[in-house]
Amino acid sequence: MPYAYDTSNIFARILRGEIPNKTVLETAHTLAFHDIAPKAPAHVLVIPKGPYVTYDHFCAEASDAEIVDFARACAQVCEMLGLSAADGGKGSRAITNAGEHGVQEVPHFHLHILGGRVIGRMIENA
Ligand code: AMP
Repeated sequence: MPYAYDTSNIFARILRGEIPNKTVLETAHTLAFHDIAPKAPAHVLVIPKGPYVTYDHFCAEASDAEIVDFARACAQVCEMLGLSAADGGKGSRAITNAGEHGVQEVPHFHLHILGGRVIGRMIENA
């Protein structure tokens, strides 16, 4: 079944410049901005500019250039925020929610990068 992308979602509107955002980083294929309701001292959303609904959709259909650009942008965001545990920082949690069971609110693929405090266990009740 083809992935159905809803062009009216809030991140599509941010990408079209219809809604402001607090940009952390913009590259050819990727935008990173602060979450409007941060759940940690650092809470950045990294999104591809292309119309991908979920992580698996992005990984299945994005071009190599988009995937590499996204991955490098994530690394750059961690470095910019001092969150890289591989480089002297205290680390972070990267999460992506997909669909109904993943409790995804915005149907445009996004990676949450959270840090600045101990984030807790990976899954509630685990
Ligand atoms: P998810 O539940 O994974 O789809 O997460 C959606 C995230 O988008 C939530 O953490 C919201 O706080 C965040 N969000 C919603 N609208 C905006 C916005 N206009 N700017 C920045 N973050 C937003």
